[in-house]
Amino acid sequence: MNYYSLNKQAPNSTFKNAVVKGLAPDKGLYFPENITSLSPDFFKNIDNLSNTEIAFEAIKQFVSPEIPEDVLKTIVEETLSFDFPVVQLNDSISTLELFHGPTMAFKDVGARFMARCLGYFNKDNNNEVTVLVATSGDTGGAVANGFLGVKGVNVVILYPSGKVSDIQEKQLTTLGQNIKALEVNGTFDDCQAMVKTAFLDEELTNNMQLTSANSINVARWLPQLFYFMFAYKQLHKKHDNIVFSVPSGNFGNICAGMMAQQLGLPIKHFVASNNVNNVVTRYLQSQLYEPKPSIQTISNAMDVGAPSNFIRIQEIYKNKFDTLKTNLSSYSFTDDETKEAMLEMYNKYNYVADPHGAVGYLGSKAYLKENPNAHCVFLETAHPTKFIDVVEEVIKEKQSLPKQIQSVMGKEKESTVISTYNDLKRFLLN
Ligand SMILES: *Cc1c(COP(=O)(O)O)cnc(C)c1O
Repeated sequence: MNYYSLNKQAPNSTFKNAVVKGLAPDKGLYFPENITSLSPDFFKNIDNLSNTEIAFEAIKQFVSPEIPEDVLKTIVEETLSFDFPVVQLNDSISTLELFHGPTMAFKDVGARFMARCLGYFNKDNNNEVTVLVATSGDTGGAVANGFLGVKGVNVVILYPSGKVSDIQEKQLTTLGQNIKALEVNGTFDDCQAMVKTAFLDEELTNNMQLTSANSINVARWLPQLFYFMFAYKQLHKKHDNIVFSVPSGNFGNICAGMMAQQLGLPIKHFVASNNVNNVVTRYLQSQLYEPKPSIQTISNAMDVGAPSNFIRIQEIYKNKFDTLKTNLSSYSFTDDETKEAMLEMYNKYNYVADPHGAVGYLGSKAYLKENPNAHCVFLETAHPTKFIDVVEEVIKEKQSLPKQIQSVMGKEKESTVISTYNDLKRFLLN
């Protein structure tokens, strides 16, 4: 599959080049040149397919011929070596739990898939690739874990000192090998600004191959479309009219769901559930797209003022506002509403949700008010203990740590403190 830049000022790219470079030379996001639907029989018979069979069929066209089928099978099997269960809360609402991977964040799947693609492309290559990521929490852990030990790939993670949870910091700083953590005296925005500067710094980019591992990278973005198929497989016999409510920040996950729809998954509608960082909610009301600086909330992985993947969503729906509105609703919720939703789920369904999932639950309820015949599935994007302080404060019950988390808590933190862009540059050049 070839990819074009959404800025339309760069040559088309192979899958390999899009993965290695991340962004097009004109700074545009890459988008697949064409999308061929899977056969209707594929969806009719989806019950008879394993998760890896579903994923293989769904992703094949996007990576071939550069990744041969036998290699792709192994990549998909290794990426998906855990469960994706749906839990039904009531007749109208279910949740798809995406937190059963090694770092208990939904980003595990994208990170693991991308790491294996890069590892394959780099296997006979002596030029190392450096993956540079800024994280406000969950991305860093998933990327660190996904890329651990991948030959020819070094990972450098920037995180704001004192502003990630203890669990998240341990996940970033204790792995060693090819993973390096930089603890930045500053905010997440400072980390992100340093990463952006690095990508534009020719002295660096002439010396090393830098790439990103956030959802602008097609190899991290596209495998997220599997989730929607896995949920459909578990629910389509029991419910028609399935609608997904996706807690959204950079809109990569929901945009991947829309790609599943383009492949023929019979989903008519999506709900983008936002915290108060609600540029898309406002856009759907007013048709005015007005990014704003991000506001800090308890669902901090969604504190994004200018969602990078929204441009891909516009492309999917051919930049037609009416088509977009037919396929997408969006609602925005405050932290107080989020906490009330966590408590309500706990009291009514004995379900412990994290703040991001709770925003997804609220989006489901808001949509169902206007569309009572739908069955809403909200994506639970992180395990509740990753946000243990707010979860325990709200439901007033101690949570025990799952084994994935316990295993990192005893390990020794290793990080390098930096304060300026020059510190980062010196670190990368050494
Ligand atoms: C990254 C993240 C999100 C937002 O996903 P996007 O693809 O950026 O919209 C939601 N919840 C959690 C826990 C996350 O880590």
